[in-house]
Amino acid sequence: MTPHADDPPLMRWPVLSIRSTVLGAIVVGVVLPALLVLALDAHYSRRSQEPVVARSRAAVQVLAAAVLTEPAWTLSEPALRDAVRRILREPSVCGVQVLDLQPGDRPMPLGRDDCPPGQAVVWQESLVRHEGQVIARLRLAFDDTEIDRLLAERRTVMAWLVAAQVLFGVAVLAGVLSIRLLRPIDALKQQAGGLAAREPQPQTLPDWRGGDELGQLGQHLNTVSTQIRGLIDTLEAKNHELRRMAMFDPLTGLPNRLLMRELFTHAAAAARRGTVSMALLFIDLDHFKGVNDAHGHAAGDELLQGVGQRLRAALRESDVVCRLGGDEFLVLLPRVEDWEFVAGTAERLVQAVQTPMVLTGAAEPARVGASIGIAMFPADSEDFDALVRAADVAMYRSKELGRGRYNFYHADMDVTLRARLELERELADAIEQGQLRVHYQPVVDARHGHIAGCEALVRWQHPRRGLLMPDAFIDAAERTGLIEALGRWVLDTACAQLARWQSIGHPGLQMAVNVSALQLQDPDFAERVRQVIAAHGLGRQVLVLELTESTLLADGQAAQRAVSALHAAGVQLAIDDFGTGFSSLAALKLVQPDRLKIDRSFVHDLPGRDADSALVEAMFGMARALGITVVAEGVETPEQRDWLQARGGHLQQGWLWSRAVPPEAFEALLADRAAG
Ligand code: C2E
Ligand code: CA
Ligand code: CA
Repeated sequence: MTPHADDPPLMRWPVLSIRSTVLGAIVVGVVLPALLVLALDAHYSRRSQEPVVARSRAAVQVLAAAVLTEPAWTLSEPALRDAVRRILREPSVCGVQVLDLQPGDRPMPLGRDDCPPGQAVVWQESLVRHEGQVIARLRLAFDDTEIDRLLAERRTVMAWLVAAQVLFGVAVLAGVLSIRLLRPIDALKQQAGGLAAREPQPQTLPDWRGGDELGQLGQHLNTVSTQIRGLIDTLEAKNHELRRMAMFDPLTGLPNRLLMRELFTHAAAAARRGTVSMALLFIDLDHFKGVNDAHGHAAGDELLQGVGQRLRAALRESDVVCRLGGDEFLVLLPRVEDWEFVAGTAERLVQAVQTPMVLTGAAEPARVGASIGIAMFPADSEDFDALVRAADVAMYRSKELGRGRYNFYHADMDVTLRARLELERELADAIEQGQLRVHYQPVVDARHGHIAGCEALVRWQHPRRGLLMPDAFIDAAERTGLIEALGRWVLDTACAQLARWQSIGHPGLQMAVNVSALQLQDPDFAERVRQVIAAHGLGRQVLVLELTESTLLADGQAAQRAVSALHAAGVQLAIDDFGTGFSSLAALKLVQPDRLKIDRSFVHDLPGRDADSALVEAMFGMARALGITVVAEGVETPEQRDWLQARGGHLQQGWLWSRAVPPEAFEALLADRAAG
């Protein structure tokens, strides 16, 4: 079994700090040897001193014997006593005995003992000779403590020397180690600790200029810490950016759906506690695609940013605005007193968005609108996604009712919406699968009943629902942008049809085709029309494009450009549904049309209603003055026919003459009542 890496080691050395280790090393390497030296010195110095003492004692004995020789030979007592005194003057000698003086007939009491009592004394004997003959024995008492005194003195000196050496050594070692080792290590430790603890980087990094190993380590640490700080900074910046990207819409800087959901959850918790209501507003811009198409995506982006700012400015601080994407925004009103308050806020938002916005590079301010749907918390749902869906459904209702308005969600709306979404899906396929048809309604000259031309009206041969009228799907086509493809197809089909009828003997026929706002905003529209006319070999002035007032005013600048280009291409222009808008005269000025089509709502009550009669008469007068041809729509009765005709309204279109019919039926009509 191999030991696991995490197993604790069986025996662990105590882990000492470098400081303790250095102190320990000083004690072991300096103080202990010094003590050892002292001990050894005490031991060996006695041994080395002993022969010296012995030699000096021997010398003293020889000298003492020499001093005694003369008096001992002469046996003069005073001289002997003097000699003994002299011998005793030697500091190491404290007692003298002279024995066996020759001739020994008279013993002489010779000797002195000056040794202090109790002191250790060593007696040593030597012989006194005269001319080779022993004349006396000399015994000297030596002070035996002398060597110890000497040694003690020496030990004291040694101790001082060793102590000084130890002190000096310790001071030098401690100083050097502290300066070169401990302090740099402390600094390194502190720096590395700061790095590990992710403290903010100090203004200046420690200066590691020293070239020793620790200095190099320090330099590396500086490099590493700079790199790590750099990495951390980059990472933190990236993190911050990622968080921002995940939570905010990069274009407008507003919260995105993710953050909105979070904020909603918080607000919902508070609302539940306080039993207050909240409102969620789904905002979809009207005609935004037109701005994008006419001025480019940069302008579109600018507009979205501007709308974001306006929404923000129109709300309270505590309200939340988020961009869902595209031209859709969400607004959360977290504290709502009553429905009137929500309605008031929605109205304010509609107004804020509607105000024309000046965009860089665009000559005219861009106009968009806001369609708003409102769902209430908790009445409609307590769930965020369900509320967004409900508000979305209500928003669609606002679109259906004519845009630029708000609607509160109601459960019935779901059914309508589902049906509508289904229709939009099917319409996309309808164009490709050839389910569209064009029917033609004659425009008749009432004076003799001849067909002067026709209007192309689209139908949808739906696989399940049968033939659908344009009212059922034109709105959907405009909402989804499919209207462009649809319009192009109708134009091409109608032109091909006209070319065919011209070729079978009806050269004077005029073909009217309806054009929607989105088509007109396409900068290439006029050029495409020119190409279609050329492709089918149609002459000038046989194609009439019908524009409505609202079509023209949605984006005045783009419309103006398109109108000029269409005039130049030899296309006639008609203002459709004339009189139903609020700006009929403005449209007249802008388009300088070849034709007016008086809307069938005016014709409907003729003759009879005075107001309508007066209006229609005024239209005729105005058109005559401007040299514009008039076509009256919706003529259903002979009375209407006659009334109009009596006032110069010869060109008429209506069920009295014929409904819109398939091309074959129209061909039959042509054969029947062709223009003379
Ligand atoms: P519009 O341009 O005003 O077309 C005339 C509408 O009045 C047609 O309805 C026509 O069938 C109807 N009408 C004609 N005579 C009478 C009458 O005597 N009495 C009554 N009550 N109605 C009459 P339709 O075909 O349902 O078209 C409705 C609208 O759909 C058109 O109104 C037009 O705005 C739009 N539309 C039709 N085809 C196209 C198309 O190809 N492109 C575009 N953009 N819009 C189209
Ligand atoms: Ca029309
Ligand atoms: Ca019309």
